[in-house]
Amino acid sequence: MVGPEDNVDDPVQRPGAQACLLSRATEPLVAEVCTVGAGFSGAVIARQLAEAGLAVAVCDTRDHVAGNCHTERDTASGVMLHRYGPHIFHTDNERVWSFLQDYTQFMPYTNRVKTTTQGHVYSLPVNLLTINQFFGTTLSPAEAREFIEARADLSIEDPQTFEEQALRFVGPELYEAFFKGYTQKQWGCEPAELPASILKRLPLRFNYDDNYFFHKYQGMPRDGYTALVEKLLDHPGIEVRLGTAVTRADVANYQHVFWSGPLDGYFDFRLGRLGYRTLDFREIRASGDYQGCAVMNYGDPEVPYTRISEHKHFSPWEEHANTVCFAEYSRACEPGDIPYYPIRLAGEQALLRDYVALARDESNISFVGRLGTYRYLDMDVTIAEALDAAERFLALRAAGAPVPAFFTEPA
Ligand SMILES: Cc1cc2nc3c(=O)[nH]c(=O)nc-3n(C[C@H](O)[C@H](O)[C@H](O)COP(=O)(O)OP(=O)(O)OC[C@H]3O[C@@H](n4cnc5c(N)ncnc54)[C@H](O)[C@@H]3O)c2cc1C
Repeated sequence: MVGPEDNVDDPVQRPGAQACLLSRATEPLVAEVCTVGAGFSGAVIARQLAEAGLAVAVCDTRDHVAGNCHTERDTASGVMLHRYGPHIFHTDNERVWSFLQDYTQFMPYTNRVKTTTQGHVYSLPVNLLTINQFFGTTLSPAEAREFIEARADLSIEDPQTFEEQALRFVGPELYEAFFKGYTQKQWGCEPAELPASILKRLPLRFNYDDNYFFHKYQGMPRDGYTALVEKLLDHPGIEVRLGTAVTRADVANYQHVFWSGPLDGYFDFRLGRLGYRTLDFREIRASGDYQGCAVMNYGDPEVPYTRISEHKHFSPWEEHANTVCFAEYSRACEPGDIPYYPIRLAGEQALLRDYVALARDESNISFVGRLGTYRYLDMDVTIAEALDAAERFLALRAAGAPVPAFFTEPA
């Protein structure tokens, strides 16, 4: 094991984690299983295995648990900050929702996003209010549907790219204002280079519903995601090691390892690097209310950031005199940057297949989570897959059967 902060002897104590064993033991862990990463993937698997009586080590290079969902209270303003970008929990999965109830109290939260484009503020996702404001009309749902269909480019029969998909289904005006610039900034390439499947996921609504998500359950953990994950890890069968990087050489120390770190990183990038977008955050501090909503997107290509999020609005049940916002800039991920969004274009897919083949030749390790399987996963999907991986691992172990490198196909 190599830990970047190995010179620090004190156990790490974080607010709200007193009951959780957070240690940096200098001896090798006496654990049967190791989860690499203390995000939702690692924490959920660790909890389920510990409940089944296994001793589990949870290692993370960072100085905190909860992975990219980490939240922390800002000392100056008291605002709960989402350090790696805003996270809103939403799901239709009954099993995941009911599982989480033991670890947090969810507060009601509805994600309503605004966008500034071409000198005006509109409501997202593009809905009837957006359409009527944008075109200066007073259309009914049926009229709006007809109106948009009339603007669509019907000569595009089988859209292959994001741009063709947009022109085919929303027409040039809405595409330019709401999709083109934002997409160029987010992905660092032209929409004509992206697959049509990306836009298929973006809803266009012919009513006034501006709730961003369709899911049955939506909410925010009252004390943040980090407190939730600390509670998941608060089990006598779990030992958490922060500031501890696990490498391929460490796998032999355990009966089995669940790797939620980068798949290419496990192999020391020997075939090359899987492409990601990373994010830079510019902090903005102000008094009162800075922008009046949690998330304001910026659609114009001249504005270099994609959105500004004002974090106190993610906890609407709290009151704070001052405010903290972050402007988000997307760029290509370089070595040393935090990988956020997997790109998954044709080149990356080919490299992914090669890494998957290497992974299948390894023993005693399964690759899980967003980085281990190189997929964008919402939290609920991450948790569902982690529950499934733990369940299947326990069944295979009991049967003396081999455990697969992947529980979900990454390619
Ligand atoms: C900007 C952004 C916004 C998002 N917003 C939402 C949202 O609103 N709603 C939603 O449902 N989902 C959202 N998500 C998705 C959410 O972040 C993921 O579902 C979740 O983080 C996946 O958890 P994970 O445990 O698989 O990975 P992570 O949270 O990334 O955890 C992996 C951990 O592994 C550690 N690690 C890596 N390599 C090693 C190593 N060698 N040794 C030890 N530790 C290692 C890392 O430090 C990290 O802490 C968002 C994602 C992004 C990028």
